[in-house]
Amino acid sequence: MSIQPELLEIVGEIDFDPDALHAKYLAERDKRLRGDGIDQYVAVKAEFSHYIDDPYVEPGFSREPVFDEVEFAIVGGGFGGLMMGARLREAGFDSIRVVESAGDFGGTWYWNRYPGAMCDVESYCYLPLLEELGYMPKHKYSFAPEILEHSRNIARHYRLYDDALMQTSITGMVWDEADQRWEISTDRGDRFKARYVAMANGPLSRPKLPGIPGIGGFKGHTFHTSRWDYRYTGGDSSGGLVGLKDKRVGIIGTGATAIQCVPHLGEWAKELYVFQRTPSSVDVRNNAPTDPQWAASLEPGWQKARMENFNILVSGGDQDEDLVHDGWTDIFRNLTGNAAKEASRKLGRRLTSPEKAELMALADYRKMNQVRARVDALVSDPATAAALKPWYRQFCKRPCFHDDYLQTYNRPNVTLVDTHGRGVERLTEGGVVANGREYGLDCLIFATGFEVGTSYTRRAGYDIVGRGGVTLSEHWADGLRTLHGLTANGFPNCFFLGFTQTAITISVPQALNEQANHVAHIVSAVRERGVGVLEPTAEAEEAYVQEIRSLARLGRRFYEECTPGYYNSEGETENRKGFFSDMYGAGPLRFFEVLKAWREADMPGLSLR
Ligand code: NDP
Repeated sequence: MSIQPELLEIVGEIDFDPDALHAKYLAERDKRLRGDGIDQYVAVKAEFSHYIDDPYVEPGFSREPVFDEVEFAIVGGGFGGLMMGARLREAGFDSIRVVESAGDFGGTWYWNRYPGAMCDVESYCYLPLLEELGYMPKHKYSFAPEILEHSRNIARHYRLYDDALMQTSITGMVWDEADQRWEISTDRGDRFKARYVAMANGPLSRPKLPGIPGIGGFKGHTFHTSRWDYRYTGGDSSGGLVGLKDKRVGIIGTGATAIQCVPHLGEWAKELYVFQRTPSSVDVRNNAPTDPQWAASLEPGWQKARMENFNILVSGGDQDEDLVHDGWTDIFRNLTGNAAKEASRKLGRRLTSPEKAELMALADYRKMNQVRARVDALVSDPATAAALKPWYRQFCKRPCFHDDYLQTYNRPNVTLVDTHGRGVERLTEGGVVANGREYGLDCLIFATGFEVGTSYTRRAGYDIVGRGGVTLSEHWADGLRTLHGLTANGFPNCFFLGFTQTAITISVPQALNEQANHVAHIVSAVRERGVGVLEPTAEAEEAYVQEIRSLARLGRRFYEECTPGYYNSEGETENRKGFFSDMYGAGPLRFFEVLKAWREADMPGLSLR
């Protein structure tokens, strides 16, 4: 990388060799690239289906099936479903039914109750509808039980428990053209109709396991982090895992989930073995209780203003003040818009695109050097510290923030089993084989994440049959096809919330809020006009798909150089199955403007019948 002298003056002293780092990153990526991409994982079904049994409900639930009609069916009671329900209630919709496979509302926060579970996006932005509910989170970063309780409170506040079907999974959804209704069937024998449906199934909801030899053969105790078995470990999400005091415990995976539960496992297990394929980048978290004086000083409208301030900063925009001021905004202040603006101010001219890219790369190397230096500062054994250092650009994987994770490796009972990018080899009846050695275990925990990149209908667990009997899997056989990610031609009155061709925000609820408001606007507008059926025209859908694909090229180049993971479809960037590959590539700020302009232009490309 030859850095222009003009830019050198701006970035200051560079005490590292960018070319050497670039080469190291590529070498680390290459070590991890493999031929089978996402097929390396096995779906949690058939012989593995016990991994998704709900450990948080009493067994034996039953109820009478329903055979009725509602105006709006919402699939999923996580943040997407809650936001949708809230905005529909506000818009005056009365007949709303949430269908949820879990025992309660909360979505990811219902399932992920592992010890140490918490949110590393600031609670004052992340927890939805704080002002509407008159609630103030206890900490800057909330712990999982508080978020779960807040989810329930949203459901209570907006009467979403009325008519909800819990512990119920949809098995079929068919559009009845004559009746202009969706007919929905479930595994509880229900068969009901809905004028509208909103799919809020969540992007990371189906756990996955590594497809390694012997995966079903381990005879000790085993579970996935999203179904934590406290009956076995003892304790709760705040720790106290007394059941592990005499146990040899292994955990596979070192992503955002493992970072949070490993400190608790290290504290309680007799022996803990952490099997690592790729280390995460783990920066400072700095949690703190909410200051009551600050909370009392907030003016009405504060949450929306704070969410917008955060979102603008973490989308590369400019703000006079950084209200959240944390690890996330720090990364973006250095890597994106503000840094480039500052540089262009100093130079007295606009930066060219290659110059911006160069500045971002330098800032990224510098930031990751800090993250790596933090490992050396906190981990006493040099070999372990070396193995814990991440060698990739910060957004190749999800950045993590934790103040106890790295120090856990200083405990005498904790061993990092670094597999040098290869992963664990196989399971035996008694444990895990890695680097040619068998580690005997009593308990094996999978922190191996969730299905991303498999087909939408496989993750949902059923297909949707639209107009003329065309299924969603047929319509999306060559990739997602939507207008604004929210509607699809041939699937009338059906809305897809989440991350199907929309823009993602670091604080996910903000994106969901925009989507929910947008859908509420559409259905309110068509209701006023007495319209029964809406769907995008094929032309509007095609134009949007082309826009998505042309914008996606920008991100693809970045992810090609990344170490494999679910962000880049395990390194198979070209197959467009990575988490970001079909997102709106111009970012959330632009996407929200597009939605607003579309509403103001009276919803062009939407066919109303
Ligand atoms: P991830 O997909 O991020 O991590 C899975 C882990 O399993 C990776 O470390 C992966 O290694 C490892 N792995 C997979 N196969 C093998 C193998 N054969 N041998 C060894 N290791 C293996 O899942 P998580 O559950 O950690 O996180 C999922 C997402 O959930 C996060 O990205 C984040 O978006 C969200 N989350 C958010 C939190 C928050 O604070 N808001 C907290 C926790 C999760 P490799 O990297 O090499 O693929």
